[in-house]
Amino acid sequence: MTGENKKQIIMIVDDAPINLQMLIEVLGDEYEIVFAGNGKDALAVAESNHPDLILLDIQMPGISGYEVCSALKAIPGLTGVPVIFLTAMSQQQDEVNGLKLGAVDYITKPFNPDIVRLRVQNHLELKRYRDERSRLALLDGVTGIPNRRAFDDQFRRDWFRAMRNKTALSLIMIDIDYFKAYNDTYGHLGGDDCLKQVTTAMLASLRTSDFAARYGGEEFVCILHETDADGTLITAERIRAKIELLHIPHGASQVSPFVTASLGAVSLIPAEDFVPDNLIRLADQMLYKAKDMGRNRVEPPH
Ligand code: GH3
Ligand code: MG
Ligand code: MG
Repeated sequence: MTGENKKQIIMIVDDAPINLQMLIEVLGDEYEIVFAGNGKDALAVAESNHPDLILLDIQMPGISGYEVCSALKAIPGLTGVPVIFLTAMSQQQDEVNGLKLGAVDYITKPFNPDIVRLRVQNHLELKRYRDERSRLALLDGVTGIPNRRAFDDQFRRDWFRAMRNKTALSLIMIDIDYFKAYNDTYGHLGGDDCLKQVTTAMLASLRTSDFAARYGGEEFVCILHETDADGTLITAERIRAKIELLHIPHGASQVSPFVTASLGAVSLIPAEDFVPDNLIRLADQMLYKAKDMGRNRVEPPH
């Protein structure tokens, strides 16, 4: 879901109900509005609603808008949310202060509805564009699944969670057999289509809680959670069989008339004295053993 049709969320922080009411009148039809009446509530509301834009009053009793802005910018996940200050002040120094704190813009009171609407619209369009760019930066263009960079993030997070919970973490590395020859025979576009079909077979073999990524040219990697060595090997074998059963003709393969893949599988409970990269290296070693042992197989065998 790209979020193209989803209403974007604006958080309004203002202690004066009349301002809130006026802003809701101007923006309420087009956007989803959440609000807070003071600085303290603002942080909690932002954390639970993840707004796309924050309209923040500067002068409020208790915590000022400036302080709220600094605090928001320090919360992981909210750092990138644009903040527009609402102010009765028209001193240039106030604008400078706000912009220094990371605000993207200023709207002065009394509000002019057209200015409010247009400024908000501009910043929300930019926000949507940035979100889409970040999303695409983590996806592989050919297969549509997460790319190597997304895998690296995910794997490190999963590693430390498994270490904390003392649960198993497994990797399956998959490499298509004689894929260079496949490209040479069927062309690069044919190769791309093969990669897409292999992706489908791989995803169909996994649970929704598992994670699969394109690791390199014709290599894929899967992360399995809370799955022991036995379960990991069964899953790897299922992937291998599903790829073979696609029956994609491969006239240049030396192991089968169809496209096949070799797989390396490893499973362990992460320990302090073992770094995440070691698990990747082990899976890679298993994969190369599977190639050595004749391809179209899982290593170690079940
Ligand atoms: P092996 O059985 O030992 O794995 O041999 P192989 O030919 O599959 O392995 P090798 O690593 O030598 O070749 C990988 C080939 O994958 C090289 C390149 O032509 C192809 N490749 C890499 N990325 C892409 C891609 O995005 N699209 C297509 N069509 N081919 C790609
Ligand atoms: Mg290969
Ligand atoms: Mg390869």
